[in-house]
Amino acid sequence: MIRQFELVERLKAYDPGADEEALNRAYVFAMKMHGSQTRASGAPYISHPLEVAGLLTELHLDSASLMTALLHDTVEDTEATLAEIERLFGSEVARLVDGVTKLSRIELQSDHTKQAENFRKLVVAMSEDIRVLLVKLADRLHNMRTLGHIKDPSKRRRIALETMEIYAPLAERIGIEDWKDELEDLAFAELNPDARKSIVKRLEFLRRRGGDLVSRIIAELSRNLEEAQLKASVSGREKRPRSIWLKMQRKNVAFEQLADIMAFRVIVDTVEQCYQALGVIHARYPVVPGRFKDYISTPKPNGYRSLHTGVIGPERQRIEIQIRTREMHEVAEMGVAAHWLYKQGDPRTDGRQFRWIRELLDILEHASGPEEFLEHTKLEMYQDQVFCFTPKGDLIALPGKATPVDFAYAVHSEIGDHCASAKINGRLLPLRTQLRNGDQVEIITSRSKTPSPEWERFVVTGKAKARIRRMIRSQQRGQYVDLGRAILMRAFRQEGREFSEKLLDPAVKHFGLKSAEDLYAAVGEGQHTGRDVMEVVFPSPPEAVDQVNVVPFTRQRKQKAAPVPIKGLIPGMAVHFARCCHPIPGDRIVGIVTTGKGVTVHTADCDSLESFAHTPERWLDVDWDDAPNSADASHVGRVHLIVANESGNLGSLSTVIAQNSGNITNLKFTNRTRDFFEMLIDVEVSDVRHLTNIIAALRAHPAISSVERARG
Ligand code: MN
Repeated sequence: MIRQFELVERLKAYDPGADEEALNRAYVFAMKMHGSQTRASGAPYISHPLEVAGLLTELHLDSASLMTALLHDTVEDTEATLAEIERLFGSEVARLVDGVTKLSRIELQSDHTKQAENFRKLVVAMSEDIRVLLVKLADRLHNMRTLGHIKDPSKRRRIALETMEIYAPLAERIGIEDWKDELEDLAFAELNPDARKSIVKRLEFLRRRGGDLVSRIIAELSRNLEEAQLKASVSGREKRPRSIWLKMQRKNVAFEQLADIMAFRVIVDTVEQCYQALGVIHARYPVVPGRFKDYISTPKPNGYRSLHTGVIGPERQRIEIQIRTREMHEVAEMGVAAHWLYKQGDPRTDGRQFRWIRELLDILEHASGPEEFLEHTKLEMYQDQVFCFTPKGDLIALPGKATPVDFAYAVHSEIGDHCASAKINGRLLPLRTQLRNGDQVEIITSRSKTPSPEWERFVVTGKAKARIRRMIRSQQRGQYVDLGRAILMRAFRQEGREFSEKLLDPAVKHFGLKSAEDLYAAVGEGQHTGRDVMEVVFPSPPEAVDQVNVVPFTRQRKQKAAPVPIKGLIPGMAVHFARCCHPIPGDRIVGIVTTGKGVTVHTADCDSLESFAHTPERWLDVDWDDAPNSADASHVGRVHLIVANESGNLGSLSTVIAQNSGNITNLKFTNRTRDFFEMLIDVEVSDVRHLTNIIAALRAHPAISSVERARG
């Protein structure tokens, strides 16, 4: 058992200016309060808070944390009150003790394991100060070390389970590698004693057989690095039975050689030396494929950085090696505590990696008081949230069913506005994919991308919804304005007049609008036609204007008017494609103005145009916009096919399309007889020439009886 004076010595070793006297007072107070209480082991109760404080010195925590550790069970288990602690030890320590006490209370409500993930968040959220969580983890570690003294097996099991599912993952997330390993291993010993025993036995056997293998490997690795003029310290450590067990489960293998259970560590001074050391090792020994991981360029979410590799090392043993700098090593050992320590004036640590903790604390602050978290309703509040990581390890909290688009907007509005695609845990997935807890989400942006009206159907956050709507409204408005201006300019030209915005003033007034831009938008939207405007601007016999507009895209017009270039052909936008004829670039096209909906583009030979024959004022001469970004946009062409019903024919059909760089987006059988399939296929193509090529290739194939572009 650690003694009080040792505790003081340890603290003084890393914090010479620490308040020794206050620490001693906390010790005396705790001892007096716990009095004759004993632990299940029979030891005096005070041994427990002392050990907990001792564990915290491993993390180099401050004296307030150590005092909290000494006092952590007094409020819950003795006569002491929080007011007393505040009076004697100040508000900081009182607040920390209060935090630990509250955590211990929720712990008593069992059956949290079903919602382990939420419970972990809850624990973090309640640890308003990271030191509260660290004291709690040390408390749990000591309790696990002494778990064997508890008589009741079901209680032991519950504590072990909770440790495995809640506290060990928390230790991992805040980056305290050693505590996480030990917590897991102690829980493993309780939950699966037979498995652990067999592993321990095997370990002993291998150790006996291998002899001094470990130090021989260390010596050879050191020699190699030295020859390359690298100053490095090499060590080897045995893996815990629990990690060996996990590995055996994953790989379905038994462990054979000592190297399977050893991990070697190389510690150097700088990041460059890490990669140099890796180079030396890879040059010297055969590399085991798939084992190399670079957590230096891509740190783990908890801030862990290191290079990992596996080689067939000295004495033909397969070994695992971790390479890191001393600073990285400290972070790996002390986790978040290392950063907490450096936070006063150390520019290296801006706490970025641990933003997720602060985010969780934010949620707590804006939700309600800690007491309310005890209620199940509040636990559920966490349940319908998802927590996802950015590639840098920042945690983004989102409501349930959130998608990458929500995520993008939560990170930054600009990222949302230009979101092109998303990788979830490294895989490219659709933007509508629902995110799950712990997903790592990478948003790929593109300057030319803008929000799609489709997004509105699947996003769940208010921010994303509002932003998408606003962007679409402003895009639509922009399109309506462009369109309206083009329509009016054309109307002027057709009348042989010089276009001037000034001339529009009477029309602006006449329609009760504020500006020429409003007028353009109204015309673009189809509220007023070009003819309506011309009648106001040039009050002349209307027949002349009429005549021009009736045949806007025929060759007989008086003066050749340039067609209106079309852009932004997305459903829901001011200009969009008709679903009947699927126009693609290169087709001759016609626009039909629909009040309030903008322009629908049809192919010039579409059957459905007949129904607009009696409303010539709605017709608009349009043409493809040759803007550079229209080239990468894909368009859907629809073909009608008749294929002989023979095995392999459908396969050849899709092969032919694929060989010609077409992508089938939809396929529908319209008729199926014994001898033939009749179907409609939608193919993504770049333009009409591309589609023509595909049709020609299909016609050349013997399996295909007939291919036509589908119209109307
Ligand atoms: Mn305790």
